[in-house]
Amino acid sequence: ARDQGTSRFELYTPDMETHAARQLSLESRLRRAIDADQFELVYQPKIEVETLKLAGFEALVRWRGEDGALISPGEFIPAAEETGLIIPLGELVLRSACEQMAAWRREGLVDLPVSVNLSGRQVSDPHLSRKALAILAHSGLPSSHLKLELTETALFRSTPGIREALLELHAAGVRFLLDDFGTGYSSLSYLKRFPIEAIKIDKSFVQGMVEDPDAASIVNAIINMAHALKMRVIAEGVETQEQLIFLRAYRCDRMQGFLFAPPTAVADIPALVRRLAS
Ligand code: C2E
Ligand code: CA
Ligand code: CA
Ligand code: CA
Repeated sequence: ARDQGTSRFELYTPDMETHAARQLSLESRLRRAIDADQFELVYQPKIEVETLKLAGFEALVRWRGEDGALISPGEFIPAAEETGLIIPLGELVLRSACEQMAAWRREGLVDLPVSVNLSGRQVSDPHLSRKALAILAHSGLPSSHLKLELTETALFRSTPGIREALLELHAAGVRFLLDDFGTGYSSLSYLKRFPIEAIKIDKSFVQGMVEDPDAASIVNAIINMAHALKMRVIAEGVETQEQLIFLRAYRCDRMQGFLFAPPTAVADIPALVRRLAS
């Protein structure tokens, strides 16, 4: 008779090896890409709901692979987070976003804040505050022009020391936004323990709003509650005119989405700024 254990083992091993090998090669490719500076930032405009004016940008990272193709963050941020490589990568992103915004300011193109995403490991980095303040000072960008987007999970996992670090950055003028609101479990009142200026409603709610009355009620309630707590609200993933009409009726403050502009390469930002200004 065949040995069940052995045959299962034989079936299982190649898969495990491939997975491990794939992880290893992604890790070493990421490491090389950080050394070779193969990351680029694209910028998505934030738009005022009431006036449709440009209010700032969110920086989003892209990896330019060896073959020139762009790799999206969903494919490498989790591995960067798992391996700790998010720390050097996050510093590259923060430096590049601050320098780019400072340059656009000097050139007179825009004088607006830039948002940078931080993942959990970065928020828990005890050197976050020191590094961010050094990067700001070196870039010449005023601290009031930097916003950091954090997630609920990152805040939950953080230690008391982290809250102090966030308060220190906040005292220097840096602002914090809560990303993907609605996908986690935290209440807005819990979030008030942190210096959070605004929440971003996850695009799953925004996109469900028009078809699904429950999603619409949730968006409406989130906006009212946030305003009662003196927080601003930004809607993510706005793709249609109908969604914009709902957000206007609910007095949402700002929005981002393909309806206005996708995340855009640096070379195309001047034309985009002109289009949004007209
Ligand atoms: P996120 O911070 O929630 O970013 C919003 C995502 O929605 C972006 O995907 C953006 O390209 C996409 N998006 C914008 N407008 C629309 C729209 O109208 N419709 C749809 N369907 N999607 C829209 P992206 O750039 O692929 O980034 C995915 C996630 O990767 C981000 O989610 C963020 O969590 C993470 N990420 C991106 N850049 C960075 C970074 O520099 N550092 C860290 N730690 N994470 C980053
Ligand atoms: Ca974000
Ligand atoms: Ca999101
Ligand atoms: Ca996200």
